[in-house]
Amino acid sequence: MNPIKKVKSEGVSLKAAHLVMILITLVIMCLLLFFTFSSSSLYSELSVSTDSYIELQKSAESLMNASDLLTDRVQRFTVILEQDDMTAYFDEAYNARRRENAVEKMSTSAPDKAAFEQLNAALTSSVKLMETEMRAMKLICEACGYVTGYSEVNNAVLPEECASMTKDEKIHLAQEMVHDSAYYEQKMAIRGGMESCINTLIDDTHSAQSRINEQLRFNLIMTQTLLIVQSVAMIIMLWLTSYLGINPILKGVQRIRENRKIPVIGSYEFRYLAKTYNKMYEAFQKSIEHLNYDASHDKLTDLYNRAGFELLSESIDLHSTAVLIIDADKFKEINDTYGHAAGDGVLKKIADSLRFTFRREDYICRVGGDEFIVFMLHMDEKRRQLIKIKIDHINNVLADTSDGLPQTSISVGVSFGSNEDDLETAIKHADEALYEMKSAGRHGCAFYAANRRSQTESDTD
Ligand code: GH3
Ligand code: MG
Repeated sequence: MNPIKKVKSEGVSLKAAHLVMILITLVIMCLLLFFTFSSSSLYSELSVSTDSYIELQKSAESLMNASDLLTDRVQRFTVILEQDDMTAYFDEAYNARRRENAVEKMSTSAPDKAAFEQLNAALTSSVKLMETEMRAMKLICEACGYVTGYSEVNNAVLPEECASMTKDEKIHLAQEMVHDSAYYEQKMAIRGGMESCINTLIDDTHSAQSRINEQLRFNLIMTQTLLIVQSVAMIIMLWLTSYLGINPILKGVQRIRENRKIPVIGSYEFRYLAKTYNKMYEAFQKSIEHLNYDASHDKLTDLYNRAGFELLSESIDLHSTAVLIIDADKFKEINDTYGHAAGDGVLKKIADSLRFTFRREDYICRVGGDEFIVFMLHMDEKRRQLIKIKIDHINNVLADTSDGLPQTSISVGVSFGSNEDDLETAIKHADEALYEMKSAGRHGCAFYAANRRSQTESDTD
């Protein structure tokens, strides 16, 4: 079975956060584009409206100027009596046609019908005034004897009494026609129409400009708001990336270097990664421990093996430790008599007895076929009696055959670390004591003594 189980994680998903941010940014960008294009088209509209106003105002003024020029020429003609003025009059009226052109322009480009109608009314008044001016010019032509080709002048209808008038009377009447109050009232009507037209244009332009300005202001506020929102969104995204992504990765790398689990923090993705890594780490550590255990333990007895013994040797405090070398007595005979399997059973029984008799903190190792070493921690020479009691107890257990296993016994050699220079010597001395014990008849324990042969169990009794 796969030891790495599927792990569930909670927390903010950086992927989802990025997706949301991308959507927000896209929406903001679309809105920004919309408001930018809208502003640029509003700006064009504003500029067209201003240009159009200036153009139309010029047209209106052009009509008035043309009308004033006609008045000026006809009045001069009636006073100075030179035909050039009449020629200039007709040039303006029928060649330049500034008044008609102005009205035509207004009809096509004026934003408001009212402005066009007002200018048209001004033109109508101007055309009407021309009838008076034609009559005045005809009177002057008759008075001065000018022959003119202008049919409008020739066709002008004069009052009947004019036929009997003298030259001066005709000139006087012509002057009166283009200077009297009726004439100026008509002129005022033309000017009034033109001014109304300009005022209408001003009103139209102002209302268009204020509408455009209003929309431009709205667009500007929206653009500023969107830019602020986008900036805030970017800052939040940067913070999220750093807080949920970069920081956990840096911490995780540090922990991996220290051969530790990595913290489950940050975004959903990193938590998922951390949990998966930690599961793998745990499984890896377990297999290492397992491998270590197998490498340092004996399969038959589950005691420390030679490799485990070597490792323990490096860590014990020799001066407070008693070293016991234990060997089964005449074990070969058991194997030979009862078979190897029974021999294995006896070895296990010896191991169990050792485990049961010694303390949990003592280290018990199987270092050879029927040979064991026990490190009794916190043990000094004064307590050798206790060691003897323990060995006797083990030998009693091993003598009992009620479990079906053949009877056996152990011999033990003991040295105390407090008397030894190093572990190697302590083991050598314990081995010497064991040899003494074997020589003395086996079944018991002997303590190494520096100044004489090892003391066997029987010596000390
Ligand atoms: P002594 O009292 O002098 O120690 O005599 P002995 O017969 O015990 O001699 P020795 O300690 O030298 O013999 C150890 C024997 O243990 C030799 C070997 O056949 C046997 N042996 C070693 N390993 C195993 C094992 O794993 N299982 C079994 N059943 N026997 C083993
Ligand atoms: Mg033996």
